[in-house]
Amino acid sequence: MDVEEAALVADADRRATDYLRGIEQRRVYPDQRALDGLERFDERIPDYGRPGTETLALLDEAGTPATVATNGPRYFGFVVGAALPVAAAAERLMLAWDQGAALAMTSPAAARIEQVAAEWLLDILDLPRGSAVGFGTSATACSLTLLTAARDRLLANAGWDVAARGVFGAPPIRVVVPETVHVTILKALRVLGFGTEQLVRAATDAHGRIDPAALPPLDARTLVIIQAGEVNTGEFDRFAEIIPLAKAAGAWVHVDGAFGLWARASAHRDLTEGIEGADSWTVDGHKWLNTPYDCAMAICRDPEALARAMNSDAAYAEGSRHAQKNLTLEFSRRARGIPVWAALRTLGRDGVAAMVERHVAQAQWLADRLRGEGFEVLNRVVLNQLVVRGRDDAETAAIRLGAERSGEVWFGPTVWQGRPAFRLSLSSWRTEDSDVVQLADVLIRVRAQVRG
Ligand SMILES: *Cc1c(COP(=O)(O)O)cnc(C)c1O
Repeated sequence: MDVEEAALVADADRRATDYLRGIEQRRVYPDQRALDGLERFDERIPDYGRPGTETLALLDEAGTPATVATNGPRYFGFVVGAALPVAAAAERLMLAWDQGAALAMTSPAAARIEQVAAEWLLDILDLPRGSAVGFGTSATACSLTLLTAARDRLLANAGWDVAARGVFGAPPIRVVVPETVHVTILKALRVLGFGTEQLVRAATDAHGRIDPAALPPLDARTLVIIQAGEVNTGEFDRFAEIIPLAKAAGAWVHVDGAFGLWARASAHRDLTEGIEGADSWTVDGHKWLNTPYDCAMAICRDPEALARAMNSDAAYAEGSRHAQKNLTLEFSRRARGIPVWAALRTLGRDGVAAMVERHVAQAQWLADRLRGEGFEVLNRVVLNQLVVRGRDDAETAAIRLGAERSGEVWFGPTVWQGRPAFRLSLSSWRTEDSDVVQLADVLIRVRAQVRG
């Protein structure tokens, strides 16, 4: 490493440290001035190279002010957490390593650590030991890989080899999704050749959970997708009733547990009762576990099914069913299991449970406070999510915008059962009780301003 490289790395570290030092004080959503400052990036590609330090300075000076403080304590949007210091620090070290973590041959260190992370994950989530775990970029990508495995397995059972014969002309597969299915599942299904109009939508109850009595017919050519943590309400499907029915019929059951699966590692484990009977599970790292972005896990009871669906073995790169390249979409890839390992090792079982339990308690406190102040909380709060309304649609929208402009907090809009609302997620390790009090105070203050 030459002097220039050392200076650049040190400069990046200093700027990153400064950013984190100010993370609690900075505006959560950038103001107009910061957004206008993004114009500085509108330059033409330089004809001749420039010093790296200058590029980094521009990134910091114009980019930093326009960031959203997702890494801070008062970002309540999208069920995403901040980045745990140790998980982010592990990623920093990984950047220096620059491992292509496709298989053990390309990075023995990454392969071993990801193997440990996989075992720990099955342990802490109490899912079938021996399941395959792929560390992918997102719940979207991980659900795509698992639904591919499901489709291919169901068709193989029907005597159709997808890898050889393709999907066109294959026997039909019935795909059952809840009415409240997450949009990224629809995307994954579209990619796999299941059109949105072909899906069977299972009726859901007032909480957004599938009504087991209203399930459509299930058989050995059915793929059933259920949820651990509905994206608005945080509700859980009734696994103990649905999964045995589906399994008895020979169906494949996939669980979208992007954030909610972590409840299983806490005192709220009851919510997930029976979930271990499914065939595949998706869970994010970058949401409730608070790893940096681009981190999720695909868990498959049948390791062969996933490894066959994602196989990319070549004469020069054989990995069978243990290589991450055969369990994820990527071939060249970052070792996304390492931040998971770092988070689990540093939090421990106790720390994961404490984080989840604290957020659930904060959500319940917030719901009580807001109800007491006359807000309408549309869901019963079983997890870390609230769906809230003002007096009418216009007031609801105005409160959300006013809160965003305050710079103190941020959360996004939603529509729940046809009614516009806003959604508050408690999922950042940095969120203290005082931040939740501040959120409630902002909502009450902004509503008073809106009412004039
Ligand atoms: C966020 C979310 C997803 C998608 O996760 P990404 O990691 O953003 O792809 C899927 N399902 C549910 C329930 C979610 O909350």
